[in-house]
Amino acid sequence: MNTEKLDQVVEELKAIVGEENVITDPALLYCYSADASINQHMPDVVVRPGKTEEVSEVLKLANRERIPVHPRGGGTSLSGSVVPYGGGIVVDMTRMNKIIDIRPADLWCIVEAGVIHADLERELAKYGLFYPPDPASSESATIGGTIATNAGGLRGVKYGTTRDWVLGLEVVLPTGDVINVGTKTLKTSSGYQLCRLFVGSEGTLGIITKAVLKLLPIPKARVRVMGVFDSVVDAARAVSQIFMAGITPGLLEFVDKNAQKAINSWLNLGLPETEAILIIDLEGSTEEEPLKLAPYLERVLKENGAIEARYTSDPEEMNKLYLARAKAYPAMFRLGKPTVLVEDITVPVEKLPEAVKKVYEITEKHGILMGIIGHIGDGNFHPLLVYDERDPEEVERVMKCHDEINELAIKLGGTVTGEHAVGKVKAKYFLKEHSPEEIELMRGIKRVFDPNGIMNPGILWGE
Ligand SMILES: Cc1cc2nc3c(=O)[nH]c(=O)nc-3n(C[C@H](O)[C@H](O)[C@H](O)COP(=O)(O)OP(=O)(O)OC[C@H]3O[C@@H](n4cnc5c(N)ncnc54)[C@H](O)[C@@H]3O)c2cc1C
Repeated sequence: MNTEKLDQVVEELKAIVGEENVITDPALLYCYSADASINQHMPDVVVRPGKTEEVSEVLKLANRERIPVHPRGGGTSLSGSVVPYGGGIVVDMTRMNKIIDIRPADLWCIVEAGVIHADLERELAKYGLFYPPDPASSESATIGGTIATNAGGLRGVKYGTTRDWVLGLEVVLPTGDVINVGTKTLKTSSGYQLCRLFVGSEGTLGIITKAVLKLLPIPKARVRVMGVFDSVVDAARAVSQIFMAGITPGLLEFVDKNAQKAINSWLNLGLPETEAILIIDLEGSTEEEPLKLAPYLERVLKENGAIEARYTSDPEEMNKLYLARAKAYPAMFRLGKPTVLVEDITVPVEKLPEAVKKVYEITEKHGILMGIIGHIGDGNFHPLLVYDERDPEEVERVMKCHDEINELAIKLGGTVTGEHAVGKVKAKYFLKEHSPEEIELMRGIKRVFDPNGIMNPGILWGE
């Protein structure tokens, strides 16, 4: 945007949201130029609306002037989907952070899009309720951002991902029109499911301002089981056997040796540092239920290659095992290099042993330090590539791993992103994962909602 136009736009934005909610200071704009990926681009201006009407006015202005708009929640995207590649206006949604209504009897709540995920969790707990999607970034990610990326998390193996828990949405379209899609009922078969279309749309179709979210009562009892393996392939193979044994875990997580080492060196959790551990939750509606099942699960694990299996219902011990998984990604920064590229490929569960084995082969071939963690119960795992982004030769080797890992996912009938979304980081592979016909249909949908292409240019198909 040239200076004259920017000055005029800034004045109009100030009139909409108030001077204090428009940011033009380059030092502050810099904070909005990046997310948790390695991508970066400066915006021209940041605006912080406080209500839906203000979002609507901002979008009318942007559409009229054909200015790129980049909605932003917590900025925790790992796929570069919140970087303002088009410059233009970043719409920071974090002032819209009200929990509007909680209806325990109906099992839903209504929240504004800027509510921090963990704040909602804490509020719902007061009613004995929970909202199942649980990204490990919960303390910073917003409800709007998690909907826009169809976020998953540790509980996904039993409860699915965000798309399964969003009943309705208020959305501001690029024209500034405000629409309500979805329902407040627990099911509907009424026409095209437009609500679902916005889930995972990565801010390319409009700005989510409110959401109706489905809830559940918190399970009464839980035990946590650790299976210890001296082979990553055995651990991956055990996953499908757990389901085949008739067990539906509340979470089923994988942590490999390098990740265990990193976590031990940071949090001193006393993890065994074997080739792999599985962390598994059993939940029940009575205290006895999971305790009864735990010895059976231990047996299943041992029959399927675990060298040791043990369970605990002690809250402190359970929390240690939870942290072993939830803090694994930041722990990797302690392995001596400043950059971590997080993959999030997902494969059919049956292909897990092959996929995990091949990923080790790929990183060994290119000499890249890696740890693997994952929501392995739903076939989703995160190879964490540790490197130094200031070393061009190492970056080149990491990018080769990145290519080969994502191509492997496609080859095995999987997907290149199980939960972090496409953004920029996965754009190239996204175009390979889907047929040209499917991509053209997606582009057609984009044109219907956003004919001037102002919403989040630069992500999904990279334009
Ligand atoms: C330490 C760490 C752990 C993580 N763990 C997980 C995990 O377990 N599971 C998982 O799925 N992800 C995880 N992530 C990735 C990230 O947290 C998720 O993608 C999260 O959903 C992003 O939420 P956010 O509010 O930060 O969105 P942002 O990063 O701000 O934005 C993400 C995308 O959503 C769009 N967007 C944001 N708000 C809106 C809105 N109101 N309307 C329309 N579009 C909007 C943006 O334009 C962008 O395209 C992790 C990230 C980190 C750093």
